[in-house]
Amino acid sequence: MSKSIIQAEKECYICRRWYAVKTTRGLEEHHVLNGPLRSFSERHGLKVWLCHQHHNEPGMSPHYNATCAETLKAVAQAKYEEKNGPGAHAAWMAAVGKDYINA
Ligand SMILES: [Zn+2]
Ligand SMILES: [Zn+2]
Repeated sequence: MSKSIIQAEKECYICRRWYAVKTTRGLEEHHVLNGPLRSFSERHGLKVWLCHQHHNEPGMSPHYNATCAETLKAVAQAKYEEKNGPGAHAAWMAAVGKDYINA
């Protein structure tokens, strides 16, 4: 299993980023790009830990809230491009087909 390039701590990314809370219990792994891009997500560490409420319940969770899902995708794209250097944006576009940062 690859390591996340989005977060260093094993805690809920949304609790931390939006609520400044550290949640380490009941974490679930979320692949930021899913469906046919899940393996791309896994290979490049484009995943975050989320508490169940922020993973798969109505409200602020990527599986219910499209804005939340797209925000996480923009974060993943930024990290991917930062980590992979020149050519990373073109590689992202070739694999993912959408620019979430300059959407
Ligand atoms: Zn949370
Ligand atoms: Zn998920």
